Amino acid sequence: MSKKVQLEKLKAEMQADKTLPLREGATNLVFGEGIPNAKILAIGEGPGFHEDRLGRPFVGNAGTFLNKLLASINLKREDIFITNMVFFRPPNNRDPEPQELEAFAKYMDQIINIISPKVIITLGRFSMGKFLPGAKISSVHGKTFKIKWQGKEIVVVPMYHPAAALRRTDIMNQIKEDFQKLPKILEEATKPELKQTELF
Ligand code: URA
Repeated sequence: MSKKVQLEKLKAEMQADKTLPLREGATNLVFGEGIPNAKILAIGEGPGFHEDRLGRPFVGNAGTFLNKLLASINLKREDIFITNMVFFRPPNNRDPEPQELEAFAKYMDQIINIISPKVIITLGRFSMGKFLPGAKISSVHGKTFKIKWQGKEIVVVPMYHPAAALRRTDIMNQIKEDFQKLPKILEEATKPELKQTELF
């Protein structure tokens, strides 16, 4: 089954899962979008007002800024896959609660497995916490962390959340700088591993 079909099936499964929290106050499920075999997966926090209305991730002000950050390294949002830790909008954009993150985690894990990205960009502290529990974003942003994900190596790059950058100039400058590192990080992460025979 192609990755596209697998993602469509997973989305349908989520639509049908009546146990998922936050569904009641939400207009739409925001599953995520982009190319199914993206090398980069960006994970935000949760849908806001505009995302809830349109059923698409990062389409408000934070999304416009994310598009600019991607454009600064010659990428379009269609070149990557973008999703969130929770797939329904929390009321009044409050932080997702631990049990909500937990309820959506099995779907998030499947998205990661299907896409099988080389690099995961975490946007903000909730997605960072999934891969780097206990890390402080002010110390780790823009750095690379190699993790083993179900037997495969994935490079995780924690970034500040674009919405935080829109509120603070210092964070804005930092996230712009961090994004400039991505092309090199991706190049390193996609280098084919040397086969034993090539060593001689
Ligand atoms: N903020 C997020 O974390 N995700 C979105 O999709 C939009 C804003």
